[in-house]
Amino acid sequence: MPTTAALLRVVQSGRDWASSRDARSSLGVGHHVDFSWAIGECWSVSVSSEGAVGVVGAGGSGIAVGRELQRAGIEFEILEAREGVGGTWRYDPSGDGSACYESLVANTSKLRMQMSGRKMGGRPWQYAPHDEMLTYLESIVDSEDIRPRLRLGWRVAAANHADGVWTLRSDRGEERRYHALICALGVNGRPRWAPLPGDFVGDQLHSASYRTPERFKDRDVVVIGLGTSGSEVAGEVANHARSVVVAVRTPMWTMTRRLAGFHLTGLITRRSRGSCRGVCDAGPSRGCAC
Ligand SMILES: Cc1cc2nc3c(=O)[nH]c(=O)nc-3n(C[C@H](O)[C@H](O)[C@H](O)COP(=O)(O)OP(=O)(O)OC[C@H]3O[C@@H](n4cnc5c(N)ncnc54)[C@H](O)[C@@H]3O)c2cc1C
Repeated sequence: MPTTAALLRVVQSGRDWASSRDARSSLGVGHHVDFSWAIGECWSVSVSSEGAVGVVGAGGSGIAVGRELQRAGIEFEILEAREGVGGTWRYDPSGDGSACYESLVANTSKLRMQMSGRKMGGRPWQYAPHDEMLTYLESIVDSEDIRPRLRLGWRVAAANHADGVWTLRSDRGEERRYHALICALGVNGRPRWAPLPGDFVGDQLHSASYRTPERFKDRDVVVIGLGTSGSEVAGEVANHARSVVVAVRTPMWTMTRRLAGFHLTGLITRRSRGSCRGVCDAGPSRGCAC
């Protein structure tokens, strides 16, 4: 049987999702599946050209993997829990499925978001809104003829490896078998709550479920954390809430995306010492950043 050696370069942080407890528990297989083979930002897999590969997740990582498998002539299927591709970049107003909020714009430039050999529209230093990111990923699925390989609405609930074969079972009880398994589950879709003792009775919302700021109208809000989501959500909510306080454990580095019309992709321009003084795209008039 002829064998094709495929070097699969995984463009997203393979180490994170392959090794994290979150990734394993999201499959419901934390105890009996060993993902250690997949740890690393790049790894190689030898698979038979006649054997199918199962890819779990059709976000940017799953689509990138699918594209490489397609080009190498290797049989594969992508199993995706949701009814569409795009992962993070598929906005869902109901608050489920992805952590994308309505105003989300990528904080890395198109140059850094696009896959090799396929440019995004516009200028490379621009930042793509979430719908443009989704359109871009959909266009890769179509141009690379990946769509026939997709199984949407197929949430992997369990994975077992025996006699060289992976058996995946969906949450509806269907089973599929593959010679190799690639997990591209993402790390941002599931909220991680801080354990906060006390008897706070107000509304609590994780940024993964945040969509629009209206519900915070005339309320006093504390935003915990000042990563990208924290700073953007705080800035947006500040236009509606009575007050917004940002609680952050350590001083953060922050930078603007644009300064005086220049896009500052890849540059670290300033450090905020002790207090948060960042700005972002929309500027202070939209209450941006912090
Ligand atoms: C708000 C926000 C903003 C971001 N902005 C940027 C940015 O500007 N630049 C940047 O580089 N990165 C950004 N990221 C990180 C972003 O997650 C990555 O850019 C990228 O989209 C991750 O792609 P992925 O395919 O690894 O994961 P995801 O996009 O999360 O896709 C994972 C897919 O796996 C599916 N899945 C999960 N579990 C199962 C299961 N059990 N069975 C079947 N399917 C399953 C999910 O439904 C999903 O479609 C951002 C993340 C968030 C949350």
